[in-house]
Amino acid sequence: MNIALGSFLNNLTKQGSIDLHVHSTASDGSFSPEEVFILAKENQLNCLALTDHDTNEGVLELMDNHVSLDQYMQDQQMNLWKLSKQIESQNLLKSPLIIPGIELNVEFEKQNVHLLAYFSGYQIKNLNSFLKLQRKNRFERNKKMINKLQELNIPIPSNTLDPTFSEPVPGRVKTAKWLVKNDYVNSIQEAFDFYLGDNKAAYVPREKVKIEEALQVIDEANGFPVIAHPHQYGWCQSQELLNQKIQHLLKITQLGIEVFHSDASLEQQILLWQCAEENNLFFTAGSDFHGANKEGHDMYTASDSPFNHYGKK
Ligand SMILES: [Zn+2]
Repeated sequence: MNIALGSFLNNLTKQGSIDLHVHSTASDGSFSPEEVFILAKENQLNCLALTDHDTNEGVLELMDNHVSLDQYMQDQQMNLWKLSKQIESQNLLKSPLIIPGIELNVEFEKQNVHLLAYFSGYQIKNLNSFLKLQRKNRFERNKKMINKLQELNIPIPSNTLDPTFSEPVPGRVKTAKWLVKNDYVNSIQEAFDFYLGDNKAAYVPREKVKIEEALQVIDEANGFPVIAHPHQYGWCQSQELLNQKIQHLLKITQLGIEVFHSDASLEQQILLWQCAEENNLFFTAGSDFHGANKEGHDMYTASDSPFNHYGKK
């Protein structure tokens, strides 16, 4: 794994003015990649990682139009360590640097776990064949979901979830929006509660990818993996359970954990941070911003860095 990158992300997290977990319309966010970038700039972030679900298309678009880590280091003739020192001393960059990222659904100990992966440049393209297979699985799943809705006498058109340029990875959120628009439910939440949520009437389980498989693909692309929001999997019930999960993961490979997240309570963040300290893990911070598609997940700003919040308490 790209340990230098993991260490860099960890340093950035300590310094603040970053957001390492953000979604765009390329997956299930409501802001286009460019709109996400503009907001990150308004929020005066030094670095922005766009981490859409199962696609790198949004972040590749941003990398073509803005400066990403590799390009910046090449222009300035520096490495990640020097860059981290520069960010530390200058406090703010003129414009957020793009950190290519992605969020993958994987299976670990029979649980559905989200795995974030970060890269320093276009190596993220090495994930393409893996992602293509994922997309095919998702396409099959969408087809089954639409069939189930049609069997429930909801006349959702069969092409509703066909991928488009602006939305290459449509899924349950798009289906939920269709159900709201056509008056079958009042809200996206209701669509999940009645039809699309786990084990509901039109739910179709996903084809599962083993975490080992995803980690190997990330390693081959010289990326660094981070377990997204570990508190969401029930691992924060005790320090013991959390340590047990993390140590099992560390037997597979070196990875980091997302300690600071919009959903995590202060207690959970403290527990996660202690776990990172005890196990010598790199840790990250991400808002999990989805624009209007998820409330209470505002993108971080330069002034409300989560690590600083924690440090003050
Ligand atoms: Zn996410």
